[in-house]
Amino acid sequence: MYNSSVIGGNVSVSGNRLFIYEVEGLGSTDGATAPVRQSGSTFITVPYSRMSVESQRIMRLGGKIVSIRAVGGDASPAPAAVTAPAATKPMAETKAKAKKPGANVPVNTYKPKTPYLGACLSNEPLVDEGGVGIVQHIKFDLSEGDLKYVEGQSIGIIPEGTDEKGKPHKLRLYSIASTAHGDDVDDKTVSLCVRQLTYKHPESGETINGVCSTYLCNLEPGTKVKITGPVGKEMLLPDDPDAKIIMMGTGTGIAPFRAYLWRMFKDKEREANPDYQFNGFAWLFFGVPKTPNILYKEELEEMQAQYPNNFRLTYAISREQQNSEGGRMYIQHRIAEHADELWSLIQDEKTHVYICGLRGMEGGIDEALTTAAGKTGVDWTDYRKSMKKAHRWHVETY
Ligand code: FAD
Repeated sequence: MYNSSVIGGNVSVSGNRLFIYEVEGLGSTDGATAPVRQSGSTFITVPYSRMSVESQRIMRLGGKIVSIRAVGGDASPAPAAVTAPAATKPMAETKAKAKKPGANVPVNTYKPKTPYLGACLSNEPLVDEGGVGIVQHIKFDLSEGDLKYVEGQSIGIIPEGTDEKGKPHKLRLYSIASTAHGDDVDDKTVSLCVRQLTYKHPESGETINGVCSTYLCNLEPGTKVKITGPVGKEMLLPDDPDAKIIMMGTGTGIAPFRAYLWRMFKDKEREANPDYQFNGFAWLFFGVPKTPNILYKEELEEMQAQYPNNFRLTYAISREQQNSEGGRMYIQHRIAEHADELWSLIQDEKTHVYICGLRGMEGGIDEALTTAAGKTGVDWTDYRKSMKKAHRWHVETY
């Protein structure tokens, strides 16, 4: 088994925090908590627990919140990076269009007509006993070619055989689950996290296995596989080692996040990237059906235990945990639980949000953030668009 331990559910951290709201349009007798007036703005210190109430009060009084930042010297034991959207800029500034990242990132080194032939080095199960379905961690040898990639990219796999028309199968894309240096830090491998697709035929009821995922999940080590790519610039990490990275993933959507986290923490220990000494904050929301389906559980919890100030881990285990209404706990419910805190973080221009996994998961996330942003008088849809323009909002769902 790749990942054998089965312990604990939700690992998260909390604390008491103070934030300073810069508000325009308030009179001087509004009764705010210790307001300090400077150049037309009112500065109000608000405890985290009262953010929502205070925002509503400010709006009722006709005020407009133009920025929120954490109070320096916060005595909270919570991770500094969670509690400190210290570089928060006035919201209008986030609208600035940022330079497109990834100009030097390799793409399509190997095309479908001339794929790279990479041997499967290992193929290990990721779902523990009692879990749902089959998910494998598969490592390929890249030592004989020129396939370089960065975290957040995908590769294409062309399965063996032909389709029902007798034509070679088309490629399928898979997010890369390893860092640019590979699992062995020798720049000679690439790893994937693949779920075998199975479903019942809607008419016949027959069990159908997906072509490429079944091919990959059953690969024997030593088998050579047609690989294309790399592709994709949507999910690239910012270069800034102090960035705040919020990851929201379901199932195999963990793949790029594993690559990020290994880059941030494991490659740091192995001194693989002298130019990238991560000292920001990473928060992973991970949705799975059952505890044995927490892919890479041991690695994730090890990193969380080792870097408690830099890495926060929150699970949504749908068939084991209940949401506040007594229903199944999906990722959007965890986002809703933490929405005010997330919204504070998101307003910091150092924060990037990544969503990866099941198509359709964005809906619930949007809903939770709409409510949180709304409490501070901000239209979430507009704000998300501005984040997208600033390359701070990244989505890859399939
Ligand atoms: P196919 O044989 O191609 O079958 C898929 C088809 O089956 C569907 O198109 C649909 O027509 C049909 N079908 C599927 N479900 C049902 C249903 N319930 N009822 C009726 N018909 C159905 N997958 C991973 O496992 N890991 C990854 O990291 C990963 N990353 C990806 C990254 C990107 C950018 C993209 C676009 C996709 C990613 N995928 C990933 C998905 C992957 O590309 C394949 O789509 C998946 O493995 C299924 O391919 P397959 O050949 O096994 O299935």
